[in-house]
Amino acid sequence: MNNENWLGAKQLSLATSLRLLSTASLVICGVVFVLPPALYFEWAMDVDARTLRTEALLNAQSVLALSTQQPDSWSTDLSLLQELFSSENDVDDDEERRSVFSASGQLLLEQSAQELDAPRLTELVLIGDPESPIGSVAVTRSVRHVWLESASVAVGSLVFSGLLLWFMRGVLLSALRQAIEKLQEEKERALITLRSIGDAVITTDSEMRVQYLNPVAESLTGWTTEEAQGLLMDEVFFIVQEESRAPAVNPIKECLQSLQIVEMENHTVLVRRGDGQEFHIEDSAAPILHSDGRAIGAVMVFHDVTERKASQQQLKHTAFHDTLTGLPNRQLFRNRILTATEASRADGTITAVLFLDLDRFKGINDSLGHSVGDELLILVAKRLRQCVRESDTVARMGGDEFTAVLGGIHSVDNVRLIGEKMLASLANPFHIEGQHLRISTSIGVSLFPQDADNLEDLLKLADSAMYQAKDSGRNNVQFYTPDLNTRATEKLQLEYALHTALENNEYALVYQPKLDLTTGKILGVEALLRWVSPERGIVMPGDFIDRLEETGRIVQVGLWVLKTAIQQAKHWLDAGCPKVVSVNVSAYQLRQSGLVADIAGMLDAASLPAKWLQIELTESLLMNDADRSDFLFADLLGIGVGIALDDFGTGYSSLGYLRKFPIQELKIDRSFVTDIDSSETAERVVKTVVELGQALNMYVTAEGVETAEQLLRLRAMGCDAVQGFHLARPMDSEALDVWLTEFQPSADISFEI
Ligand code: C2E
Ligand code: MG
Ligand code: MG
Repeated sequence: MNNENWLGAKQLSLATSLRLLSTASLVICGVVFVLPPALYFEWAMDVDARTLRTEALLNAQSVLALSTQQPDSWSTDLSLLQELFSSENDVDDDEERRSVFSASGQLLLEQSAQELDAPRLTELVLIGDPESPIGSVAVTRSVRHVWLESASVAVGSLVFSGLLLWFMRGVLLSALRQAIEKLQEEKERALITLRSIGDAVITTDSEMRVQYLNPVAESLTGWTTEEAQGLLMDEVFFIVQEESRAPAVNPIKECLQSLQIVEMENHTVLVRRGDGQEFHIEDSAAPILHSDGRAIGAVMVFHDVTERKASQQQLKHTAFHDTLTGLPNRQLFRNRILTATEASRADGTITAVLFLDLDRFKGINDSLGHSVGDELLILVAKRLRQCVRESDTVARMGGDEFTAVLGGIHSVDNVRLIGEKMLASLANPFHIEGQHLRISTSIGVSLFPQDADNLEDLLKLADSAMYQAKDSGRNNVQFYTPDLNTRATEKLQLEYALHTALENNEYALVYQPKLDLTTGKILGVEALLRWVSPERGIVMPGDFIDRLEETGRIVQVGLWVLKTAIQQAKHWLDAGCPKVVSVNVSAYQLRQSGLVADIAGMLDAASLPAKWLQIELTESLLMNDADRSDFLFADLLGIGVGIALDDFGTGYSSLGYLRKFPIQELKIDRSFVTDIDSSETAERVVKTVVELGQALNMYVTAEGVETAEQLLRLRAMGCDAVQGFHLARPMDSEALDVWLTEFQPSADISFEI
């Protein structure tokens, strides 16, 4: 991989320092070589010159003295001069030569005729008054020895400087080697780091030309180092703004201008060469600075944050959406109402807030299990979405509560139409885990600006309209009207009153007899709950059982019912007119663990044999959660309690459980019995159920028999028993005692009262 430039800056400064150091060592060695001989030469010549001069002066003095003593003969009688020089100077004739000249410059005496070695140094001194000298003396000496000595000094310093140079070079070289090794090591380390880190790295020169890409950068940009080298950074690293898609400013450009580290916000998207794949990236660029402060390149580090970005978006989505259905949640829904009402305020249209509650969803959840409940909610969400425009919002507030906000509405009729469309859509059966489920829905609507002009009130009013829809028989759409507020208050009061009803002993049981059509005898009675409210009078279970279930209070109330019914059954047993007392048990109650043990305990306490108690369950209970139902049935059978299947035909069409569970009695729902005269279908259903019961060896009772005709038909069909107003209305135990004594059992009774 061509990455030599990566550490170029360092190499550059290293080479310069080496060059400098080499020159310096050469200069030092040159000086060391030249200076000592030169200095020695200078010094030695100076010493010789001074010596010669002194000698010449002394000789001139002697000659002057001689000329004073022998003014006439000193210059003619050469023996005088020869004597003078031989006595006064003890010189080595080999090295020096003295000459005496007359005033006219004629050589009078030359002490040694021997030729002196070159080079030579001569000092000439005038004799006597310099203005009118009588002659001159010259002393000449060979200075060859000075040259020779200087030469030997030069040889010595040459050797020394050579050694010095060798030493310095050696030191430098090893320092350089070390530096290079270190550099190499550093480079390797840097390269390995660059190759192994998860971040992408691109380096450029100061002109923004790409020099190096690490493998991550290569895969993110779609360029290899070889291909990208020398190209401009903008070409290789192509980034655009996430939202506007406009080309984004390359951080390297900014960093080279500012000479500072530049961090980019993570709103840039890198577009890969070739396949055009996009990556959300986070990047930063730093300049590579030379020691003199100038930028010689830049490094850019970036990483792919696409996944993080996606998970952030996912988190954001989760924060505003319901995880089960994917619909907007409460918070987003509130925002959408605000947006819609703002728009309505601006264009004078209507915004409708719809509050939807699935009727008796809790029962489905409790009896069929949460997985069925969840699946149902998902399907409901889908259907609701299909009922509204793309611009409308359907949200889930939690549980089985859905909401919708419809904006830009011109007519209230449109809202009603959409509400009814929702009802119709949700009324179609749902197919979940092989079962056909039917639900109904109650919808409450509030309108902006008619009903309220703020979010909180709109929600509150739609909610109370929804309760009104429930109260008006469910499965309908109710628009908010001011008197709903009063009803809402009433509802709250009802809930409060229910809360204290058990403590205040306000519950009572009534009993409705069942006539056995074969024997004409009253073999059993059904215990039915009443709330005798001091304010409201007698309240029917249809008006409060749901509330008890919603609040969970059904558990305590249910135990009270069982206990009272058991005591009553014991009373009849003791009185000699034993009756099987049937008690309705809701799904919610059954889900509470320990119910069977409680029943056993109560039977025990009352000393009532279990066969005088029967539990009425609805079909939904038996569906799904088969293991749990298995245990439950086994336990109930274990203690000897009978089981009846109530409201048969209204629930679920899968009847596999009839074989599976030990049910002794089927109670055909009133709706079929009522229609038995008018509808062939109803008649056929009843007939089939009777036959099914016979085939499975079950006792079949028809509920809600109101006419003698119905009774006779049912008997003709082979129905085992009847229960209904035609025979008797539910009544309290005392009234029933009286009724029982008056009732005349007969095998072919016509019951025409
Ligand atoms: P259910 O178990 O199907 O009870 C029969 C209902 O039909 C009773 O209504 C009874 O008064 C009514 N009925 C009987 N014969 C006729 C008739 O000929 N015509 C008409 N129109 N109605 C007739 P009630 O007492 O209002 O009870 C309604 C439901 O409330 C019961 O239906 C049962 O599901 C529930 N319920 C009653 N008592 C209890 C209780 O103690 N615990 C629980 N969990 N539910 C109860
Ligand atoms: Mg019942
Ligand atoms: Mg029933």
